Amino acid sequence: MRASFFSDFLNLFFPETCIGCSTNLRYSEKILCTQCLLDLPRIYPKTKQLNPLEDLLVGQFNFEFAHALFHYTKDKTYSKLLYNLKYNNRPDIGVYLGELLAVQIEEMHKNNSVDCIVPVPLHSKRLHKRGYNQSEEIAKGISNVLSIPIKTNDVLRKVHTQTQTSKSREERLNNVANIFAISNNSTLESKHVLLIDDVITTGATIISCALAILKASPNTKISICSIGLA
Ligand SMILES: [Zn+2]
Repeated sequence: MRASFFSDFLNLFFPETCIGCSTNLRYSEKILCTQCLLDLPRIYPKTKQLNPLEDLLVGQFNFEFAHALFHYTKDKTYSKLLYNLKYNNRPDIGVYLGELLAVQIEEMHKNNSVDCIVPVPLHSKRLHKRGYNQSEEIAKGISNVLSIPIKTNDVLRKVHTQTQTSKSREERLNNVANIFAISNNSTLESKHVLLIDDVITTGATIISCALAILKASPNTKISICSIGLA
């Protein structure tokens, strides 16, 4: 009560602005104004055909479903969401996007049997530098809506990789092979795990992570979700 009074009071002088277009947000809006929210290039697979993320991952490993929230193109308004989430100390954007994603998961995969959410881990060095794992913030948003627990102690990132943006698909796949390890007391065996990443480009990182889980516990079921699909 007092906290919200205080933030309303602050808003009179420092209104929050839309991450996309910088207009002042209204009371009912958060992170994005209504127009920018409507303009998100969402991925709505209308038919039973493969959606673009499933199309990218099919044949790499067995998964239950795969879904990305929107098409990601650099230099577009909505790319600011992911930029601020990763580089501008805005973990709240991750929670917000996770909530949007969860609503879509609920619509499209109603009777899913997901037992737990596993954010793709960062290497401890990068986690320390950023202060939070952006994928874990997205997982929190999903967990808020779907009431599914998050597990962050089962999968570890044992190798610190440099940014992958300038590498080819093959280089990326080689670069991330075996960078993940499963902890000895992992509880993922025979569970349905929803793996979360912020942006999927070639799929190399998420494939490597899924393969590490399946190697340690072949009976685990895996689904994949991300915010952006580049
Ligand atoms: Zn806006």
